[in-house]
Amino acid sequence: MRRISVFGATGSIGQNTLDLIGRNPDAYKVVALTGERNIQKLAADAIRFNAEIAVTADPTRLEELRAALGNSGIEAAAGAEALVEAASRPADWVMSAIVGSAGLAPGLKALEQGASLALANKESMVCAGPLMLSTAKAHGAQILPVDSEHSAVFQALIGEDLSAVERVIITASGGAFRDWPLEDLVRATPEQAAQHPNWDMGQRITIDSASMFNKALELIETKEFFGLSADKIEAVVHPESMIHALVGFSDGALMAHVGPADMRHAIGFALHYPDRKALPVERLDLVKLGQLTFRHADETRWPALRLAREVMALGGLSGAVFNAAKERALDGFIAKRIGFQQLAVVVEEALSRVSAQPGHIDAAITLDNVMNADHLARIRADEIITEIEG
Ligand code: NDP
Repeated sequence: MRRISVFGATGSIGQNTLDLIGRNPDAYKVVALTGERNIQKLAADAIRFNAEIAVTADPTRLEELRAALGNSGIEAAAGAEALVEAASRPADWVMSAIVGSAGLAPGLKALEQGASLALANKESMVCAGPLMLSTAKAHGAQILPVDSEHSAVFQALIGEDLSAVERVIITASGGAFRDWPLEDLVRATPEQAAQHPNWDMGQRITIDSASMFNKALELIETKEFFGLSADKIEAVVHPESMIHALVGFSDGALMAHVGPADMRHAIGFALHYPDRKALPVERLDLVKLGQLTFRHADETRWPALRLAREVMALGGLSGAVFNAAKERALDGFIAKRIGFQQLAVVVEEALSRVSAQPGHIDAAITLDNVMNADHLARIRADEIITEIEG
């Protein structure tokens, strides 16, 4: 039986992962399931899968978790340290699907114990790509991408020589506002931004799709994950979200990964890798699909893409700063403290203020330095949000 842990089990990716595991429960032994606020769901899944331990990231919810687990015999724990402890428990395959930089420390710990890490948490690669890769290498662990674009690139590269890669194109749906006139974006609300045209995802990533901060993170993740230079990576708007990514080779061939907007494909691919096994995803009817369209990813409409290029050029801990400032800006937008178009303003200004303070962006990429840069970026982003409100 394969030992499995799911970090972020109560979220969109976590639930899709449990859906796949639940279809073949005898093949897996669930070690740890984690969540934060959704205690009833966490406890119900821990009982259903007879997990060894259930962990909430929120210490104030430990008693609720204990009560919900009742006399099931399942251990309960809470807090950031408990998440890392759960990640240190031996497992063969670990899903990293916590949202935000909070996913980094448990992911690193899972790599240290040699697990195959299915990485949905793109923030880990954005904040600390070199650290993730070196930790995996040092402990004989592997990282399998779960973001649909990176899974698509990974699949297109199987058996290929990386030196023959000319370009990688990752596609973007364009999110909720792709067809809005530019001048209307000033009135865009969080509720409107959270309506994704194609994918059913968590609230934060859906808003990040509308602003293209999600795509910006993915551009940076592509550079880090595959070790490609930034000039080989581009984003293209593809409203149908059927092609997830394309890899162009030196002979002009372009290999596309095509599939329905269902994260269970990428999760299932990572779960069964290196095998391919049947997955409960829709089979595409190309004739019914009719046509696939593509548009330029306009950096005036989506300044996050321009900022991603700056981060790729800056390197160091700029990804950690970018991500943390983006997380705070997103909190500010959800709380209606700033407008949609100010998301990029906050991130750009935070990057500039942290860059002006020596010893942060250029510090060595260690977990402590990443968390320091993350902390400072949040402080700067909060200051900027207050100034905007002022
Ligand atoms: P959700 O918001 O649906 O779920 C997030 C999960 O993380 C939940 O289990 C949540 O717990 C938990 N969580 C939230 N905050 C913390 C914290 N501070 N510490 C520990 N756990 C926390 O997110 P998604 O499933 O949509 O996304 C998860 C990750 O996967 C993100 O990095 C996202 O970018 C990436 N991703 C998602 C895709 C998708 O289709 N959804 C596609 C590709 C990548 P609770 O719900 O109990 O509060």
